[in-house]
Amino acid sequence: MENKLRVLEGNWGDIIFGIRTLILSFLFNEDNFLVFKNFTIFLIETAGLPPNELDFAISFIAFIGICLFAYMLTELPKRLVFMQCRNCDMVFLKIGVPESSWDSEHTIKHRHCPRCGAACF
Ligand SMILES: [Zn+2]
Repeated sequence: MENKLRVLEGNWGDIIFGIRTLILSFLFNEDNFLVFKNFTIFLIETAGLPPNELDFAISFIAFIGICLFAYMLTELPKRLVFMQCRNCDMVFLKIGVPESSWDSEHTIKHRHCPRCGAACF
């Protein structure tokens, strides 16, 4: 297999995974975790519950919050900018691959995966 270094047609899956890991390790840094934890305590106090008795739940909610936050930061831009092939899981830039369609009215737009050629919607 030839080793392509073309950025526009490259596989971005590993890069996105790396960015997600970086964001997660940054958020799980002690200071940032405290920010999420304090926010959860604030929410629980607002809801009228006693934060001192819910220490484990607060840590758990803060943990889930960080995961959701990191997911949103990486998954939403990924869906807007990238496309993932259902056949081979390759993640490619939408702008790097021209749009195709099967009829002249362009009703069924799709892109062909640069690696396996499968149609992606
Ligand atoms: Zn593919």
